[in-house]
Order: sequence, then structure tokens, then C-alpha cells
Amino acid sequence: MTEATGIVGEFFSLKEGTDAELLAMQCGDFYEFFGEDAEFVSDELDLKVSQKSSHGSSYPMAGVPVDDLTPYLKALVERGYRVAVADQYETDDGHAREIVRVVTPGTLLETTEADAQYLATIVETDGNGRSAADYGLAFADVTTGRFLVADAEDLDEALTELYRFDPVELLPGPDVRTDDDLLDAVRERTDATMTLHETEAFAPKRAGHAVRDQFGRETVDRLGVGESAIAAAGAILSYVEESGTGVLASMTRIQTHQGDDHVTLDATTQRNLELTETMHGDGDGSLFETIDHTETSAGARLLKEWLQRPRRSVEVLETRRESVAALSSSALARDEIRETLGDAYDLARLASKASHGSADARDLLAARETLAVLPEVVETVGSDPELADSPLTDVVDRPDGAAADELRERLEEAIAPEPPSTVTQGGLFQYGYDDELDEVIDRHEELTEWFDTLADREKRQYGLAHVTVDRNKTDGYYVQVGKSAADGVPDHYEEIKTLKNSKRFTTDELEEKEREMLRLEERRGDLEYELFEALREDVAARAELLQDVGRTLATVDALASLATHAAENRWVAPELHRGDRLEIEQGRHPVVEQTTEFVPNDVGMTDDQQFLVVTGPNMSGKSTYMRQVACIVLLAQVGSFVPAKRAEIGLVDGIFTRVGALDELAQGRSTFMVEMSELSNILHTATEESLVILDEVGRGTATYDGISIAWAATEYLHNEVGAKTLFATHYHELTGLAENLPRVANVHVAADERDGDVTFLRTVRDGPTDRSYGIHVADLAGVPGPVVDRARDVLDRLREEKAIEAKGGSSEPVQTVFDVSSGQFRGPANADGGEPPEAGETNESIDPEAKDVLEDLESIDVNETPPVELITKVQKWQRRLEE
Ligand code: ADP
Ligand code: MG
Repeated sequence: MTEATGIVGEFFSLKEGTDAELLAMQCGDFYEFFGEDAEFVSDELDLKVSQKSSHGSSYPMAGVPVDDLTPYLKALVERGYRVAVADQYETDDGHAREIVRVVTPGTLLETTEADAQYLATIVETDGNGRSAADYGLAFADVTTGRFLVADAEDLDEALTELYRFDPVELLPGPDVRTDDDLLDAVRERTDATMTLHETEAFAPKRAGHAVRDQFGRETVDRLGVGESAIAAAGAILSYVEESGTGVLASMTRIQTHQGDDHVTLDATTQRNLELTETMHGDGDGSLFETIDHTETSAGARLLKEWLQRPRRSVEVLETRRESVAALSSSALARDEIRETLGDAYDLARLASKASHGSADARDLLAARETLAVLPEVVETVGSDPELADSPLTDVVDRPDGAAADELRERLEEAIAPEPPSTVTQGGLFQYGYDDELDEVIDRHEELTEWFDTLADREKRQYGLAHVTVDRNKTDGYYVQVGKSAADGVPDHYEEIKTLKNSKRFTTDELEEKEREMLRLEERRGDLEYELFEALREDVAARAELLQDVGRTLATVDALASLATHAAENRWVAPELHRGDRLEIEQGRHPVVEQTTEFVPNDVGMTDDQQFLVVTGPNMSGKSTYMRQVACIVLLAQVGSFVPAKRAEIGLVDGIFTRVGALDELAQGRSTFMVEMSELSNILHTATEESLVILDEVGRGTATYDGISIAWAATEYLHNEVGAKTLFATHYHELTGLAENLPRVANVHVAADERDGDVTFLRTVRDGPTDRSYGIHVADLAGVPGPVVDRARDVLDRLREEKAIEAKGGSSEPVQTVFDVSSGQFRGPANADGGEPPEAGETNESIDPEAKDVLEDLESIDVNETPPVELITKVQKWQRRLEE
């Protein structure tokens, strides 16, 4: 057909240059399809086919008027075809045509579908990737400009996201397109048209450039996704650009997509909540250490992972919680399971050692012993009615039990009970494992027996005393005879060494047996090594099974650990829901309750009360109260029971905490700049479904700065973000916020003050505190009496003067200045808060001499006094003042 000339020839040569399935080429007032394309579209779209002759042949032709192209294009593309459109333009000698765009399902702008129309990419992370995610994904909707990137930890998650976004077109990355299993799995989940976009577009460097060019220099770092997600995003950008739709400009914002089940828990929050280590960097005293009762290292690892990666899916959490519930009430079965787990080794690690070829016989023995744990656990779960009825049954049934038994039996038959740690010198296998090996072992043992009994035989036969047979590196096997008997040895004994008290001999027979022994040993070592390698490869081939079993045992271990802690500490099962309500009755801090007589406290957050300003004296328990709330929510979202009498938890999509720089500065860790950038991050990232804990934020700067920042942040969180928030502050002024912002309420940690002493009650009550108790703490701490008294004095005056009056969000706080040199207050020029001090008050602190002078000055009548006398008086005053 390529020999066609003219219009038809032009059509075919354009068609050859595009990978689109169909080509619509403009010829004057029509877009025409030729050849097979014409027949195809006439079938699909009911177009009339005519014949066009060229170069003596005739070609089918179908066309649509230029103005009507869109609906036809749309119909073809929505059926999953990619259509190239070639427009006609004028040249000096007539017309020429050029492909101006390729319309594909993911780049079709003219869609009338209401659904988002995602163009997606999936890129597999290569083996040496630094990223924890196996896949990177990107989704772009050209009709709206929405652009998202995501990491997918494993294939399951990647497929789930693909299913969720339901893209109309998918660009598989270079590794993905050759993976038939994966492509089949993808096809099962979406009807997306698969398009093979050029491989170079997926190259990390080039993709990174494309993303930065499009969305700004900082983008790549800000997104916090792996290299493959960036590659995916870059490939989409290049594809959209090449499609010629000109919509690249509409893509202005790129965001990281977090799966539905994702809960944000940044590093700062993990540290503030002392999840895995305390503020001082110790593991001891962390939440993890407190609740960890696991029996195995894999179980401990998993429990830690759960704490660091809380979940939001009610199903996932309820499954865990139900298992914990069953395990916590079946104490006997739980103890039995935990004892059984004590015999388990780290199967995941053993599996990877087998795969690397570094596992020795002891490792395989450990694998065997651990595989034997599974049926025991299954048995215990099955025979306890409550456990049998819980989701724990599904957990323990997940791995292929039969396959696990088979592998265990195979290892049982193979590995010797106490194998050596080297794999090259034999002794690894059980007798009966391999016939050829058995023969070698038989011969080896016979010979060993021969050597073992030789000394006795020689004694008897030649009447020798003090005979031993032994072996060493230099002499090989030898017969050693004591000095006293050495002269009586038979003639065929050949002396090889004289020692202080004995002589060493060899014989021809001994040497021959020794050679045989060495041959046998070598043979046995080689043979066993060969067999062992084969066995190890077999085990490596079942790595997935080992991992399954390992994961199951770890899961049971982690669940049993949660159950143990719940049972021993009277924790309760939280009620979980997707709403906003957060109600905790008599909650406790999971770590502090271990070492303290803890005073339980309630929390109540509802739709119309989502922001609590927590005030109270220093050291009264504000920080503890807020952390306790965060820990309880976190534990609930791990699937654990919680330290409370009752808890109803609206699941959150993230927990954010920030502790004021001053508290952190004490640990030498933070600056005010860090405090503010973390506050900024919270204000950007938190959503209305998040839990935000702000502890003395704004404290790292001057008072009025701090109050202003805290004030504005509160308004923003309340009005714009709408997150559930607890804000502890010693700025008493902030309690005024509750009057202006409907969802803000005050609570305070109560303290009892009697005879100038403060008792901390640790009880949280409604309403604001009426004052700061900092001075009492100073007193308790032994600050000298005069300083404490003076501080009380200053505080009283500050209160009287109403030093600060914060009004709503709009007006600036008004500041009254405390003049250190005079000990007085000076009001600002236009103060509406503090009154300027009265004249009489000013005189109080002037010394009596000056006062006299002033009185004198006041009483003098200038008109009645002669000038000379005035001069004398002034000189006298000056002298007195100078004194
Ligand atoms: P604040 O943040 O108000 O200065 P903290 O939360 O740091 O106070 O608590 C001060 C001390 O009181 C800590 O040692 C803490 O262990 C203890 N504490 C706090 N809350 C309670 C409580 N509910 N029951 C018992 N002790 C508590
Ligand atoms: Mg505090």
C-alpha cells in the first residue's frame, strides 16, 4: 500500500510515523480516514465508505466534516482507541499535512463524562532503590489539571490505588511492561487503555527535571515520595506534552496522594510522644518499651511498626482489636501461645539468609523449629472457644499449613540434631537422608571405630602399657607409648618423635588407614556440602512460605503482647468510628501510669467543640494530659486497647504535635525557627480529620510575639483547618479565644491553693484557670524569699494594670511597659488597656530631700521675690539636689 501517492500516500506515511491506532487527516473541509482505518471507523461509527483511487489502485475512504470531528473523536477515544489528528496547512506549492495531536483516553479534553478521567503511570522501583516503596504511581486528570503522586509499598497497594482511581489510560513503566503477571493483574482491575510511552521519559533524572520545570524547584523534596513516583510523574508530563493538547499549563499543583488508610505521624510527633525513644534518646520509658511484651524479635519489630504506622481502616483495626480482646480474656491460652512462641526464630531473616546462600545448617534447624511452632499455635487457637471464634483464626490459617508441614518434615529428616556451624566439613545430615552419603558415613564410622580401639588392640597384642592413639596436624595419626614401655615396641613400629615422657610411632597399616580416613573425610565434606547447597536452595525457593509463617507468628506475638498489656493494666477496648467525636472517660497516660499514682481525666470533643485551650499552673499536668489524648488515639489506631474506663474514638488521618521551643531548648534540640517551621508544616498539612497537639507554642520568643502567633494559629486551625486541637498554654490571655470562636472551649488543670501553698490536683476541669502559678513553683523550688515576694508584687501590679488586653482576632494586643528603673508602669500613648499612672503616684518614690526642694519651688511666688534672692534660692536647691 505504501506505493500509493498523493493524498493516500501522504496518509500512509503519516500513519507510519505515529503509534496511534487511527489517523484522521484533514483534506479541505473534511477529516478523512483511509484504508483499514476507513473500514474500521465506518463499522464503529456508522460512516459511509467510498473509494478513492490512487496510482491505479482504489482505497476505502471515510470522512467527517471538519466541524464535526469532536464527537467522532470522542466516541473512538472513549472506546479505548488512540487517534492521531493531522491538520492541513498551506505551503508555497499547495497543501501539506502534519500530525498536531494524538488524542487518547487520558488526554481527551472534550469528554462529557462527569467522572474524573485519570491518566496514570505505574513504575516499579528497581532492586537497589533507596525507597521503601516497591512502586511509584502518578495520576493526572487533564480535564481538571489535578495531579497526584503516590508511593505504593507493595503490589497490593499499587493495585488498590489503580482500582480506586480507575484510570482511563495507563502508561506502564519500563519494568512493568515486561511483567506479564503484573499486567494481567492490572487489566483485571481497570479497563484502562495501555499505552507504551517512550522509556527515556521514565529516566529518573529526566523525570525529576520535568517535574521541577512544571511545578517548581522545591517540589521534588516537598512531595516526599520515592524516585519511582517522580519518574511516574515526569513520564505523564512528557506524554501530555507530546499529545499536543496544550493542557500542560493547566497543571499547576502537584500533591502527594495518601491512601485512605494512611495516618500521618511525622518524626517530630513520634519524638514528642516518645513512641520508640524518650526525649533523652533512651528506649527505656518509651511507649513501645512500655507496652512491648513480645516473645520474638519479629514480633517486637512488627509491634513497633504498628505503632509507627497507625491505620484508619475501621475493618483492619476492629480485626486486630477483636483478636486482642479474645486473647486478653483467655489468659491460659494466651500464656500457652506466648510460651510456644518463645521457641520461634526470625523466619523472615532466615528466609533471606537462605536466599543469599549464607544460611548454615543451624539456620535451617532454626527454620525447622520455628515451622513447628505454627501448628502448635493453630492447635491452641482452635481449642479455645473464644480464640477459635475470633479473627485470630484467620490470622493463623493464612499461611499454607500443609506446605509448611512438608518443609518442616523435609528439614527434620535432613539436618542432624546438633550440626556444626561450618558447612564444608560434614556432620550436617541425619543418617538415612542420602544413600551415597550413608555409605560414606558407614565407612567413616567403621574407620573411626578402628582408630578408637587401636590402642587397646596394641596393648593386648604386644603387652604394652601406657599406649594411646591420637592425631594432630603435623604428625597425623600416631601411637604414643610411655617412656618406660617404649623399648618394648615391636619391630614394625617406626619412631617419629621423642617427647619428654613418651615416644610416638607409626606403622604402615596406620599410615594406610590414615590416607583412607583423609579421603573419606574429604569425600564426606564435599558430598554433604553439595547436598546442603541443594537443600538450602530448596528452602530459598520457599522463602515466601517462610515469610508468611514468620509474619503470622509475628502477628500473633504482637497481638498477644497487646492483650497481655491490656489485661495487666485494665485497659479497655475503644469504640471506633469515622465521625468527629472523641470522648475519653477517665483516660490515663500509658507510660506515666506505670510509675505514678495517676489521676485519670476525661476528654470530650464533639462536632461543636473541637478545640480545647488547656491552661493551668506550670507542672500541673497540661503536657501529660495532651500527650495522653494523643497516645490513646494512636493506640486505638494501632488496634490496641487503651488506658481509660471508656473511649469512643473518631479515627483521625494524622496526629501532629509541636512543643514550644523553650521546652525543647532545654533539651538542646530546637530553635524558634524550627518551632515555627514545624508549626507551618502543621498548618499546611493537617486536615479537618487530624488531631493537633500544640504545647506552649509561641513560647520560644518574647511574650507578645508568642501570644500573637499562638492567637493567629488558633484562629487559623479553628477557621480554616478545622482539626481537632488541644492547645496548652501558659498565656492566660488565650482563654479569651473561647468567647469569639464557637468551637473553642477552655479547660484547665486544677490546683489547690491554701496558705500560699499549691497542691496539684491533676484534675482537668472545664473553664480557664484564673491565674498563673509560676511564682509558687519558683517558691517551691527555693528561689530566695525577697525575689518571690517582689515577683508577687510585680504580678499583682501587672494584673491591676491589665497589661495586656487581647481582643478577638482582629485587634493588636495592647502593651503596657514595666519600667524597670522606676518600678513603675508606663502606658502606651494611646492605651485603651492600661491607664497612664497618676501624678501623685509618681512622687511616691522620690527621696525626701528632692521632695522638699520641689515643695519649696512650688511655694515660691516669682513676682514677689527679688531676682538676687531667686538666684540664691536656685543655687541652694541645686546644692541640695547634688547632695
Ligand atoms: P505541665 O505541662 O502543666 O507543666 P506536665 O504535664 O509536664 O505539666 O506534668 C508535670 C508532672 O506531673 C509530671 O511529672 C507528670 O508525671 C505529673 N503528672 C501529670 N499529670 C498527672 C496525672 N494525671 N496524674 C499523676 N501525675 C501527673
Ligand atoms: Mg508542659
